[in-house]
Amino acid sequence: MENWQWSKLMIKVKRTKIPKSLQVNEATWKSELLYQIKLKGEYSKVTSTYKERYKQDDIKEALEKMYSEKCCYCETIIGIASYEHIEHLRPKGLKQFHHLSFDWDNLHWSCQICNNKKRDQWNEQAPILDPCTDDPEQHIDFDLSTCKAVEKDGSERGKTTISHVDLNREKLVRARKRVKDRAMKYIVQIKKTESTLDDEFYKKELRNMLKGDPNTGDIAEYSMLIKKMVETYL
Ligand SMILES: [Zn+2]
Repeated sequence: MENWQWSKLMIKVKRTKIPKSLQVNEATWKSELLYQIKLKGEYSKVTSTYKERYKQDDIKEALEKMYSEKCCYCETIIGIASYEHIEHLRPKGLKQFHHLSFDWDNLHWSCQICNNKKRDQWNEQAPILDPCTDDPEQHIDFDLSTCKAVEKDGSERGKTTISHVDLNREKLVRARKRVKDRAMKYIVQIKKTESTLDDEFYKKELRNMLKGDPNTGDIAEYSMLIKKMVETYL
């Protein structure tokens, strides 16, 4: 497999620079929110005017680009059939994290289902994985026969992540299976073809499934599973 640098492919995401609206307003938004919580006595009584100021176009654009239009947890393409959500990894509704409501490092991009499943769950001893600072591949693995996510080497943080957003929900597992079947066809062809042209074609298709292609708009859905397949079968 010369000239075929699989090892250079990473699932981890690189955080982009802080969007302008946060740069300018974060300190004010934070102090006004904390003041309102104090004034009203509890977070739930504060209006969304103070709580949801992170809903800015430049923040949404930056997160969508950063996560290549995919959910930060389940890697499903978002924004087509349902709205995308700005996700607070450390739940903003918890007392110890109110102050992180507008913290760029705490903002992520998730699908509605992961967002609804997770809500205010937080495990202080084994927190959910942060795709920008953790390497998900160190904690989560895939069973290639069932397409289910499993914690790697008994990782407690992998366990938390799988359970807090329910990474093995039925429809998600079915979606992974469809992508797996497609990738498997390319892998089989790459292994048996003797034509250089065919070989290049199938490798290009498989590479798109792993990294996406900005020129064609291909998005690498479930790339972590595909990467595992490539490492296992090629
Ligand atoms: Zn999701």
